[in-house]
Amino acid sequence: MGKVYLVGAGPGDPDLLTVKALRLLQHADVVLHDALVSRAILELVRSEALLIDIGKRCGQKGLTQAAINALLIDYAGRAETVVRLKGGDPSVFGRVGEEIDALAEAGIPFEIIPGITTALAAAAVAKKSLTDRRYASSLVLVTAHRRSEQDAVEWDRLVTSGSTLAIYMPGTNYAALASDLLTAGLDRHTPCAVVSRATLSGEQVLITTIGQLGEHSALPAPAHILVGRCINSAERFDFTQPVLSVRQTSSRERVPN
Ligand code: SAH
Repeated sequence: MGKVYLVGAGPGDPDLLTVKALRLLQHADVVLHDALVSRAILELVRSEALLIDIGKRCGQKGLTQAAINALLIDYAGRAETVVRLKGGDPSVFGRVGEEIDALAEAGIPFEIIPGITTALAAAAVAKKSLTDRRYASSLVLVTAHRRSEQDAVEWDRLVTSGSTLAIYMPGTNYAALASDLLTAGLDRHTPCAVVSRATLSGEQVLITTIGQLGEHSALPAPAHILVGRCINSAERFDFTQPVLSVRQTSSRERVPN
């Protein structure tokens, strides 16, 4: 019987893979990957490996979680090294919990290889600290996307904590998101950064305030939003007169060999 490696691919730049993730990609018999995993990373997979795209894309239905679990179990019975490759870190909004349960139940050995989650990559791209001790002492990883209407995000509990908020799956309606945060009691001058396609080509950073966020149309997916006083930390930013800065960067420079 084989082993399943639940591997974090990081935000997209192959240089941000862990050494262990890279070794596994070069050793794998089967790689089942999400749509979010970048092409540059998939190019690092051993050419003899079976590469299976099981990701969901906007407007297109992917496999159900049950079908993905069944595939993992099936391949683990036939191949030695099975890699389940996920964007960012597998344990952060990556549904790895359901896969762990299924593998454990089937008695299949598995290991989790962490990856750089988007919140960390977005902060690096925006050149901000997530927990600058002058402004925040905690960091909340939260998704704006819930399974149902009833399952609403408890923003009022989160905004009063004074944490930096790292918002995954912010959606495209920034006005609705900003309005939820303002209704929950967040100061309208609170800075925020929208980081689109972090570390990928066409990466963009928008620095604004929650009060002004709703005026902007959504940046290209995948996008991430950091909210909190830390977003003010590395740049001169006038709280009373919020300014907008959109930076369009080209694809990330590779570290020289
Ligand atoms: N497991 C992933 C998160 C998956 S949820 C992680 O640890 O990062 C998918 C969300 O992640 C997207 O909606 C977006 O908010 C964020 N995301 C993933 N890759 C991104 C990227 N390169 N740039 C900006 N946001 C990204």
